[in-house]
Amino acid sequence: MTPAKRKITVLPGDGIGPEVVESALEIIKATGVAVEFEKCEAGARAFQKGIVTGIPTDTIASIERTKVVLKGPLETPIGYGNRSANVTLRTLFETYGNIRPVRELPGVQTAFTGRALDIVIVRENIEDLYAGIEYMQTPGVAEGLKIISREGCEKIVKLAFAFAIAEGRKAVHCATKSNIMKLTEGLLQHTFEEFAPKYPSISSKHILIDNAAHQLAMRPEQFDVIVTTNMNGDILSDLTSGLTGGLGFAPSANIGNDVSIFEAVHGSAPDIAGKNKANPTALILSGAMMLRHIGEGKAANDVEQAVLVTLESGIRTSDMMGADTPAGTTDFTKAVIGNLGKRSKLSPPKQYTKVDLPPAQLGVNVVPAQSRRLVGVDVYVESDLEPKALAADLEPLTQSSPLKLQMITNRGAMVFPGNDRRVSLVDHFRCRFVLRDPASKFGDAEIISLLGVIGSKHSWMHVEKLQEFDGEPAFSKSQVS
Ligand code: NAP
Repeated sequence: MTPAKRKITVLPGDGIGPEVVESALEIIKATGVAVEFEKCEAGARAFQKGIVTGIPTDTIASIERTKVVLKGPLETPIGYGNRSANVTLRTLFETYGNIRPVRELPGVQTAFTGRALDIVIVRENIEDLYAGIEYMQTPGVAEGLKIISREGCEKIVKLAFAFAIAEGRKAVHCATKSNIMKLTEGLLQHTFEEFAPKYPSISSKHILIDNAAHQLAMRPEQFDVIVTTNMNGDILSDLTSGLTGGLGFAPSANIGNDVSIFEAVHGSAPDIAGKNKANPTALILSGAMMLRHIGEGKAANDVEQAVLVTLESGIRTSDMMGADTPAGTTDFTKAVIGNLGKRSKLSPPKQYTKVDLPPAQLGVNVVPAQSRRLVGVDVYVESDLEPKALAADLEPLTQSSPLKLQMITNRGAMVFPGNDRRVSLVDHFRCRFVLRDPASKFGDAEIISLLGVIGSKHSWMHVEKLQEFDGEPAFSKSQVS
């Protein structure tokens, strides 16, 4: 009996999606690998049919069955609501790790040609500012919450090291802005530093994200794998795509607990859709990553090598610099198929092993603390008063509370007490209250009563408890202006 073929969900997508996806499918089929494709709808057409998520239930059912998706770019059409089908997929299947490898490609001229760049960005993909938790706190002040969890950090750090080991790589950098965002970005740095010694074969180093950007522009060859938070990774990975030839060459994998989605980094490029002009390389290389993920390492190597040989032979699509007579998408595809089985002279295949993915920890993940203590509360107040006048209002109001006003900040800068320097203010004040008697205790009842008295005169819109976990402050200290 012939063994059952491995099923893959395919989303051709929008714009140039169907052309570049078809190219990748033809090449994968030509490798002879035993896979079967389930083509499903998602994106613009689904939105036009009134499916508000952009992902029909049949598509979701196929993904739940196959667990592996090869995906073309999906548009977020204007006028069909604000939801992005890409975000729906990422959220539904919790694809927490975004892996974006880039490398120097033969014949693709860049400012870094000849420097053998081979860099992978491993980006946390669901937390951070991209969790999309935003509020207009006053008509003129917006807030976005940067949510970073220990669980999310652990998963992305383990994924980065597992990927480095599977690819025989030597070094992992962790890039954060922990010098400023000590608790959120710092959580990734600390988790990285805690786990790095468990991978003694890989060298590890923390780097500040701004320096990482500078170093990537100056000496990118020093980097191998970079693990980072969501927004940093979004920006850095486009930067690294630019170093090696641009979006047409940048593949990616979105790794989830049980579903993984492989796609080009680029979008639907509607200006060249249907013109047989799109460069399919990024999607083809995403297909190779997918083949490796499902255990078809030989086919993955064959596809990657055939792309390299095609580029070495001088065949170029119109986006590649120096393409006098560009090949169309279909010609490029035929050339890659013709080169299957050949090996690149400049970049022979590497040895890969299976990525040892971190196990899914479903349920509620809790980091225990031996002790916790409530030491104060921050109340965000909307006011058009100057800081001194606001403090003069709040202090008598809160006189009967066990909590006293300690300070007021405006956009992070301390404006009360003791700062007479003029700063530009907005009507959004963080008023920090702490215990009058540090040895005493308070709880929710006292906070509610405090909010009641503040609310009798001022509009408050946000409250944060100030806690200590195991004796350590679990909140940021004020920045003295
Ligand atoms: P884009 O589609 O990536 O296109 C930007 C430009 O890059 C194109 O106009 C084209 O430039 C060039 N380009 C991109 N891919 C190419 C390829 N394979 N071959 C040749 N040239 C390529 O970015 P966008 O215009 O900002 O986004 C368009 C739509 O795609 C939006 O609806 C967006 O939401 C969506 N999008 C989806 C995804 C995804 O599904 N993951 C990702 C990004 C964007 P030329 O002008 O030189 O032809």
